[in-house]
Amino acid sequence: MEHLLGFDIGGTKTEVSLFALGGGDGDFKVSTKDGKSDLKVLASKRMPTSRQDGYETYLKNLLELIPAVTKEGSIEIDDLEGMGLGLPGSVHPETGKMLNGNTHMMIGKDVAGDIREALGFRSPIAVNNDASCFALAEALCGAGLKYEADHGLPISRQQSIGIILGTGCGGGLIYGGKILNGGKGGGGEIGHTTLVTDGHPCYCGRMGCAELYLAGPALEKNMPGKKATEIFELAEKKDPAALAVVNDYRQKLCDFLINLNNFYDPHYIVLGGGVSKQTVIYEGLEEELGKKMFVSGKTPNIYQHQLSDSAGVLGAAIMVL
Ligand SMILES: [Zn+2]
Repeated sequence: MEHLLGFDIGGTKTEVSLFALGGGDGDFKVSTKDGKSDLKVLASKRMPTSRQDGYETYLKNLLELIPAVTKEGSIEIDDLEGMGLGLPGSVHPETGKMLNGNTHMMIGKDVAGDIREALGFRSPIAVNNDASCFALAEALCGAGLKYEADHGLPISRQQSIGIILGTGCGGGLIYGGKILNGGKGGGGEIGHTTLVTDGHPCYCGRMGCAELYLAGPALEKNMPGKKATEIFELAEKKDPAALAVVNDYRQKLCDFLINLNNFYDPHYIVLGGGVSKQTVIYEGLEEELGKKMFVSGKTPNIYQHQLSDSAGVLGAAIMVL
């Protein structure tokens, strides 16, 4: 049996999980290049990312968390086949350093390299951004299996997009069961493509980025004093102001998905993150896409996430495969 360690390093919390591959009694099915296998969670721990304390403190806490997780799973760190890290930003494909993201203290840092050096770890460490890890986990363990069951197309021939609609809006492109990274680490940053011309200014320096309209805080900005979940609840009760905010959101999400679809033509798009839990955003969405896409009649399936909140950490771990 192989053992893998996955890291989901987010802007607010960090989760580290130990997985066993191929034990036969796993928590998740996974499609690997050798066929279908399974993954079992042996141990999992979380800690706050607490970005205000700086990177050195963060790394010190992380280096204490790692042996705590492996110990709970009765594994020595040297027995791990590999580690996978999902970072809250874009990652340089060769150096593994974080290039940009809203967790500023991590920009320019080589988290994988620092772990390797501190622990003397010699097996592979894979690094990517958290949205790509989510997209990969869904492709190999969640939505991809559903698409294969529904349409008979194997995962090795599927193309998909995973989108996180959470505190930010990020995306990952998957091609044949692999993350499509781009050449220089800037791929998949779909949250920073223009959705509204001359729209709100974004921290990236542009105007009207998709993230400013599709992430949870966007809804909250349009109805001050209410959390995104409350706005959806009010809309369900036909509160006119909340309904207007939700309808505007749905319209913008539809436009965004049409842009992505016209560009990449995926078999399916899978949505994750807090806002993706609202079932109302899926109502009539595929039909609407079908009417407005450049090539009509080729609507992708729009899936709600099939895995729990552990998709990030799972995707990070299976990158090693
Ligand atoms: Zn932006």
